[in-house]
Amino acid sequence: MALLSIVLPSYNEEQNIANTVQVLSQLLQQEQIDYELIFVSDGSRDGTYQEILKAAEQDTRVKGIEFSRNFGKEASIFAGLQLASGDAAVVMDCDLQHPPSVIPRMWDLWNAGYEVVEGIKTSRGRESFLHKCFAGVFYKIMSGLMKMDMNASSDYKLLDRKVVDVLLNLPEKNTFFRALTFWAGFKTVSVEYEVQERVYGESKWSFFSLMRYAVTNVTSFSTLPLQLVTVLGIVSILFSLVLAVQTLVKYITGTAVEGFTTVILLILIIGGSIMLSLGIIGHYIARIYEEVKGRPRYIISQMTDNVHGKEARGR
Ligand code: UDP
Ligand code: MG
Repeated sequence: MALLSIVLPSYNEEQNIANTVQVLSQLLQQEQIDYELIFVSDGSRDGTYQEILKAAEQDTRVKGIEFSRNFGKEASIFAGLQLASGDAAVVMDCDLQHPPSVIPRMWDLWNAGYEVVEGIKTSRGRESFLHKCFAGVFYKIMSGLMKMDMNASSDYKLLDRKVVDVLLNLPEKNTFFRALTFWAGFKTVSVEYEVQERVYGESKWSFFSLMRYAVTNVTSFSTLPLQLVTVLGIVSILFSLVLAVQTLVKYITGTAVEGFTTVILLILIIGGSIMLSLGIIGHYIARIYEEVKGRPRYIISQMTDNVHGKEARGR
């Protein structure tokens, strides 16, 4: 019988673990799906890992690891996929904001031969106005870059073993899981779901962390900002030609002392764009530097005894 691995990144989610285990186990048993639950505690500072241990003692289908510190959701997802030994894997939030009731539908589609089942949000749930605007702009840019509609995409998806292996074999360390499955291709279908309210605990995202997430993800998928630097350069050269002619004409006609305002403005504009461009280039250099160092994406400090999959084989 085929095995379904469910990967659940968890950061400071002690209140959610027991409930999530219970809800998922009940649903999957009822649907007669053979499963394993893989919790990845992302360096939680509360009792998340203890809760995972407790659940794992009661049921060997529950597995878990703990990171040595917080490495971020991307790292947790990839660690979970690394541990997964299933023929298919579902990635979902452990706060049940991704409704488990969608899993049987994803499973059926997988059985029908689809290799990627994308969870698509029908509503964004309750978010602040600022958050909505920001997410809107971010997904517009991402959709443009990916040439696919990313607006409603989420991290909630089912992946076939083949796709999991493709993702795990990617050499880069800075990843954007949500877009990578689009990039990878394969036979894809989507299912819609409605984002649920969080019952316990609170969201881990601040405006600042979202901002960083957006910049990192855009630059990891595109070199367009670098080309913008070139465009900026061309525009200033054209502009400078016009001004050069004007300045020369003034010099020849003997009215050259004026134009101090122009000088100030030019210094400001050009200085600003040079610094901005350097910043953009610097950002890419930083990314190259990070990748070149080749540090692991995450460090595991503890794991439950029942862990199999690629990760355990390496030990
Ligand atoms: N998460 C994680 N590492 C982090 C931040 C979040 O593994 O550094 C997990 C978190 O435990 C949850 C999921 O990612 O299962 C989504 O996080 P959250 O619910 O805070 O985000 P939101 O649903 O508000 O977008
Ligand atoms: Mg959530």
